[in-house]
Amino acid sequence: MPYDKEELEKFRLSGRILRETREEMKTQVHENMPIIEVCEKVEGLIRAKGGKPAFPCNVSINEVAAHYTSPPNDTLRIPEGSTVKVDLGVQVDGYVTDTAFTASFNPEGRSMANTAEQALKTAIENIHGDMALGKIGGLIETTIKNRGFKPISNLTGHSVGRYLIHAGTSIPNVAQVSLTKVKTGEVYAIEPFVTLPDAVGRVDDSPQTTIYRLLKAKSVKNEYAKRLLKYIEANFRTLPFAERWLIGVVPEEQYHAAFKELLVSKAIMGYPVFVEVSKKPVAQAEHTVLIKDDGCEVLT
Ligand code: MN
Ligand code: MN
Repeated sequence: MPYDKEELEKFRLSGRILRETREEMKTQVHENMPIIEVCEKVEGLIRAKGGKPAFPCNVSINEVAAHYTSPPNDTLRIPEGSTVKVDLGVQVDGYVTDTAFTASFNPEGRSMANTAEQALKTAIENIHGDMALGKIGGLIETTIKNRGFKPISNLTGHSVGRYLIHAGTSIPNVAQVSLTKVKTGEVYAIEPFVTLPDAVGRVDDSPQTTIYRLLKAKSVKNEYAKRLLKYIEANFRTLPFAERWLIGVVPEEQYHAAFKELLVSKAIMGYPVFVEVSKKPVAQAEHTVLIKDDGCEVLT
């Protein structure tokens, strides 16, 4: 077993905080709501419950599949009739859990959201130690296609670890010939993404980045860049962060040049926002599970 009893209790606490936060947010997300309000509510609830956000809350609208969080002073609101993925994570002493739900304000989007939930449920009911990863992908793909929709083929679930959101193993959302197997005692996030049947069913990087992470704590010249980097190392380690979380670390007039130096010197990297190639709407569902020999324990 890769994790001892104490570590598993931290995963379970992390998952409990995340589950409570998700359920509270489900009733709060509404049309015309400022996106930054969703992000700050999620992150505030996680902190109030004794956890830390494992990554900035993602609020991804319509054809944006993932990786959008509000930049500082974001003025965007949830559009009327849109489909909104809210993806949130908690860490307790570095032990990461990851979950997502879709709120949709149109019937087709609600149907896609239900399909994503159903695909996730099917995966959870069938997954167990020693199962081939490609077989889980096949179950997810079949569930989605049987309901008349299409999975996003190049977005996957993933193993999680301590201070790691992607711990090395991917869980596909389509059938795959893969010899790699799910391991008992490991913790994985399963996350089907659903789009329309006439969509391409893949995502591409957009030029926008709103989420970042430390690459290497290298030496930078600018004094303020140095200060920012120290703060990032101490507070987020290898976990993703948002620029909103850096407000006040250095004087406002110095911030932009300092942040840019960190990016240019590759001390930090940005995650591009993912957009469905044919600009079709996307729904998502996600849980984090602990694998057992004969099934799994849903942590979130
Ligand atoms: Mn997630
Ligand atoms: Mn995930």
